[in-house]
Amino acid sequence: MEKKAFHKDIVIIGAGMAGLTAALYAGRMNLSTLVLENGLVGGQIANAVSIENYPGFESISGGELIATLQSQAENFGAVIDEFDTIVKVTLNATPKIIETEEKIYTCDAVIIASGMNRRKLPLPEEKIFAGRGVHYCEMCDGHAYQDKIIAVMGGGNAAVDAANFLTKYAKKLYLIHRSELRADEVSQKRLRQNKKVEVLLQTEIKKLHGNGRLESIDIFDKISGEEKNIFVDGIFVNIGVTPNTQLFSDEINLNPNGRIIAGEDCRTNIAGVFAAGDVREKEIRQLTTAASDGTTAALLAEKFIRSLNR
Ligand SMILES: Cc1cc2nc3c(=O)[nH]c(=O)nc-3n(C[C@H](O)[C@H](O)[C@H](O)COP(=O)(O)OP(=O)(O)OC[C@H]3O[C@@H](n4cnc5c(N)ncnc54)[C@H](O)[C@@H]3O)c2cc1C
Repeated sequence: MEKKAFHKDIVIIGAGMAGLTAALYAGRMNLSTLVLENGLVGGQIANAVSIENYPGFESISGGELIATLQSQAENFGAVIDEFDTIVKVTLNATPKIIETEEKIYTCDAVIIASGMNRRKLPLPEEKIFAGRGVHYCEMCDGHAYQDKIIAVMGGGNAAVDAANFLTKYAKKLYLIHRSELRADEVSQKRLRQNKKVEVLLQTEIKKLHGNGRLESIDIFDKISGEEKNIFVDGIFVNIGVTPNTQLFSDEINLNPNGRIIAGEDCRTNIAGVFAAGDVREKEIRQLTTAASDGTTAALLAEKFIRSLNR
């Protein structure tokens, strides 16, 4: 059966904080706005129990924040489609073409807000302790670990940077990695010089224990063969992320980590295509910066569409 074709002013790919913010702005500027989402509306933050650093809220759950933002965007006319997976994009064209399993959309501007996936702690107990001692974002959750014992898992720059950051809260911090550190020398040296820090290399985390909250972990020293249990209040897992950019890699310039190369104006290498949120190459990935990107991308997309003089 032939797919039906529709035209939209703007198609936004991804309904996380960046995509929904872009949708709110685009809808409010009377642009016909479609958001395509292939997972859960809300993205990474959807299941967060408590967010304490989103301006204007002392504490709010991810679910509540996203539900409010979604209804704001929809009230301004944006349409969110969660059930139609994108199969192909042609961005370097006029108009741009987004083909889904069921439809073909043409549009004047595209905002890519497809975010990233963080690699999860590969243990069955992860599901029990996620948000209750197992964390993935030191800037988001580190504050809850004032004078507590923290473990950071990972050996790259992101893990060592996270560990250096978390020393401001921890009374004791373990950096645990299954092989040798790959982080740059300066960051490693800074970490090792901190008296609160113990670096455990060639060490694997085998099991998590706790009663409702994480209390301790079993670790295995691959060199000595010794297994022991250590008390920790929280683990920050930093073992890699995958930006959701596979769909765009033929046309959009990506950095070696797979993130979209775009500056603070969110413009990519293709006119009329913008990248917003965690999918964009940038240093700080937070809800506020995702919302900021969504705002910028929508406003500049509107300017681009206006410049087409249709
Ligand atoms: C557990 C956790 C807790 C956090 N806590 C905080 C906090 O307290 N404060 C804070 O500021 N930040 C926090 N963060 C970071 C914050 O969640 C992210 O920076 C922010 O959500 C990024 O938003 P985004 O819209 O750019 O991307 P995402 O949230 O990753 O959303 C991208 C969306 O795009 C969808 N998508 C991907 N590919 C496609 C495709 N091909 N087609 C259609 N849709 C697609 C995804 O399903 C997803 O819904 C936390 C992160 C995690 C993981």
